[in-house]
Order: sequence, then C-alpha cells, then structure tokens
Amino acid sequence: MGKKIIVAGAGHGGLAAAALLAKAGFDVTVYERSKEGTLGYDWTDIFAPSALKAIGIELPPSDQYTPDCDRTFYSFNQRIPLKQTIPDDKHEIKIERKFLYSVLTENALKYGVKFSYDCNITAPILYGNRVAGIKTSKGDFYADLIIDAAGMESPVRKNLPDMCGIEHSVGPFEQFYVYRAFYNRPAEVEPTGDYNVYFYPNGHLGIAWVVSEAEYTDLLLGRFVPFTLDEAETDIEFLRKSNPVLGDTVLRGGEFVRIPVRQPLSVMVCDGYAAIGDSAFMTIPIIGSGIANSFKAARMLADTILADNEGAFSADTLWNYQVRYYDEIGAGLASVSCVKTLLTKLTPDELDKIFETGMITAEDFTINSDNSNISTMLSMTPLEAKNRLHELRKDGKLTKKFLSVVLRVGKATAATKIMPKKWNRSSVFEWSKKYKKAFE
Ligand SMILES: Cc1cc2nc3c(=O)[nH]c(=O)nc-3n(C[C@H](O)[C@H](O)[C@H](O)COP(=O)(O)OP(=O)(O)OC[C@H]3O[C@@H](n4cnc5c(N)ncnc54)[C@H](O)[C@@H]3O)c2cc1C
Repeated sequence: MGKKIIVAGAGHGGLAAAALLAKAGFDVTVYERSKEGTLGYDWTDIFAPSALKAIGIELPPSDQYTPDCDRTFYSFNQRIPLKQTIPDDKHEIKIERKFLYSVLTENALKYGVKFSYDCNITAPILYGNRVAGIKTSKGDFYADLIIDAAGMESPVRKNLPDMCGIEHSVGPFEQFYVYRAFYNRPAEVEPTGDYNVYFYPNGHLGIAWVVSEAEYTDLLLGRFVPFTLDEAETDIEFLRKSNPVLGDTVLRGGEFVRIPVRQPLSVMVCDGYAAIGDSAFMTIPIIGSGIANSFKAARMLADTILADNEGAFSADTLWNYQVRYYDEIGAGLASVSCVKTLLTKLTPDELDKIFETGMITAEDFTINSDNSNISTMLSMTPLEAKNRLHELRKDGKLTKKFLSVVLRVGKATAATKIMPKKWNRSSVFEWSKKYKKAFE
C-alpha cells in the first residue's frame, strides 16, 4: 500500500478517517492552520457515543463526560413549554471539545498520522480533472487522495473548478450565525439543571439555548443573518428574565461562529477528492450537530478507500462513499432540511399557535444525532394525526405554508431515492441538478 493521503484541515471526520487509514497502512498527513495544542473551541459538545464506536475509539473514562439532559422547547410567547423525554439509555454525552480533539489526535498519532500545524491551506492543486494536492502557506503538497475536512468555508471545496460539479458556497438560510459563551451564575441563584431552547428569542428569527450547569450557564444565540455583540447583549438581557441563572460575566467562549444548517453536498467526491464533516454539510439542519455524522462518515469513507484495491481514488470508486452516506444518514438530513424551511417561514404568532394547539408535541422533539429522520420524529397514531390536521386546517395561511413544506419533503425524498448507485458523470450531474432544485 503506502499511498499518500492528505487530510486538509483537522476537522472531526478528517481526524477519524486519518487514523483508520494510517492504521491500514496509508501514509497520511493532516494539514491544519491552528497551532499545535489549540484545536477546538473552549466549550462542550453533545453527541451520540455510538459514533465513537464506529471509528474504533473507546468511550473515554466516565469522569470526562456527562449524560445530556432532556431539553425544554419554547415558542415566541414561552407560554407552553414542551419537554422531551429521552430514555436514560438513549441520552447523548456532553464532552469538552478540546478534550475530544485530544482523544482524536492521540488516536491518529498512535497509528502514525503526521501533522503539519500552523499551515494555512489556500486552494486545491489540479492536474486536469483530478485534485492532486493543496496549496498552503508552507508550500505545495501532493497526494493520491485529498480528504477535505476544512469545515464549511473550506478553501479546497470553494476553489474546485465547476467541472467537478461540487457546490462552492452556502446560501441564505443555509447557515446559522452563532454566538456562544459560558456565563457565571449569580451567587444567590441555585443551578436548575434545565436545558431551555427558545425559538424566535426576543422576536428574532432564530434559536437560543440556556443550559444551567453547576459551574456556569451555557448560552447560545443563533440567527440566519449576522448580528453584533450589542444585539446579542439585548437578547441575553431578554433571556435573563426567564433564566436568573444567566449571570453577566463571560467565563469561557464568547465567540461568533457559523454552522451549516442545510442538506448535505449534492456531490461529495471527484477524482482524488472526498469531502467530510462541515465541508460536506453533514450537520443536522435544525439543531446543527455534526460530530456523530462526521465520525460515521469517516468509517464509510475509510471502508470505501480500503475497498479500492487499485488505489484509483477516482470519482468512480469514491462514489460508493456518497451512496452509503446518503443511504444511512444523508437522505434523512435532506428531509430535515426541508422542515427547517418551515421554521424560517413561520411568524412568531404562528409558531405560538402550533405549540398551543398541540399541532406539535413534546414527543416530536426527539431529534438528536442518532435519530435525525423526520419519519421517526413525527411518529404518531392516526387519531393524533387527525387532531393535528384538524387544528391546522382552521388556519388557511398556515396550512399553505405547511403543505409547501410537505411538498418539498416529498421532492427531496424522491430525489434522494433516485440518486445513481454507480458513478457516471452525466447521470450524477443530472441527478445533482434535480436534487438541488428540491431545496430552491
Ligand atoms: C457553537 C457550536 C456548537 C456546536 N455544538 C455541537 C454539538 O453540541 N454537537 C455536535 O455534534 N456538533 C456541534 N457543532 C457542530 C460541529 O462543530 C461540527 O459539525 C463538527 O465539528 C464537524 O465539523 P468539522 O470538524 O468538519 O469542521 P470544523 O469544526 O470547521 O473544523 C475544520 C478544521 O479545519 C481547519 N481549517 C479550516 N480552514 C483551514 C485552512 N484554510 N487551512 C488549514 N486548516 C483549516 C480549522 O482550523 C478546523 O480545525 C457545533 C458547532 C458550533 C459552531
């Protein structure tokens, strides 16, 4: 073997794939712009532990994580809280991002992966149709395969020529602008342990969460448009009224970042190239979780590469990775992406009505990184369905919006079902056009 693989950016999926491939004998190097020891943000993440198993990593010792708690969802007027009830054995885990990164890098090093930190990637290098390397601040590097794990704004994906058929940019309503910080808790206030999620916080189209922990209160604000720290402060002041645990001193984080909240890339591979993680938009569109999907994708990508006995790493052989990803995860995410568009179309009053009339229930909020398929999110008895439709029909405008989303889900589902199982440039590109149309 000994073929060379470049992992562009130390994204979660890229690091996981790097370890699996180095273990199998490939010569793998990760190029990352951050300095050594600084990977990841200063906050925690929640994901399904089963995803670690998929990449052959043991669950860390139990003092390194805590089980996630049930979330309570609020609409604009906050009158009807909807609290999910997730069985104990189905809870995800909460873990420090920097610790998770140390687990991933140590695992990669153990199998011989090399790292080049402080190395800014600027573009792919192409030989004809084939991605053959990367341009970086430390020079040009070449390999038999480039795995793109450089996140949503990957300079590799964004600079691929159109002939690769891979989308470059993220459109409006396809990304979340997020402010996240851990605040102090005022001394006189006891922690509640609550995980509150708000739609339309302070009347803005977006989402917020306030999570009361023993040592801090975790705050996240997300909107579909950029916002300033002053605007964030106004929303935080608003959230303090119902969350006295939210103090006024930032202890950790306090950064603006972005998360893709859209359907996965329509084409994730080309000759010599495969995208993974945020660079392939693998996050769950409504909640923005992407770690578990990136890990599972790493397993699929490694399996595909290992099955390519000739070592061609062409679109033809890498296509199996995309087919498997869509089969097991991507098709579900595509329909969740359509449901997200409903949230962007609703007025705050309409959302209140949906909460108050039982059109949506606490059980519908079971979405997590092990269960992101709307058919399981919205499992209901025929009687429940009838009652919900009865309420919906009373409001013509809302019915119209709802039906347009149902139509969209239908189109997206149909499109994912007819994805070519074998690579053929013209049929894949033709399919990709149809698929993208379902989300326009
Ligand atoms: C506030 C916030 C909270 C989140 N919470 C959760 C959560 O609880 N659970 C969950 O599952 N997911 C969560 N996510 C999403 C999760 O972070 C991503 O889906 C996941 O990390 C996969 O993304 P990635 O690792 O592929 O990309 P990224 O995290 O963007 O990593 C890309 C890597 O590439 C490097 N890079 C980028 N550009 C260059 C360049 N030009 N040159 C060299 N290197 C480069 C970056 O430095 C980085 O190391 C959250 C995201 C945010 C922003």
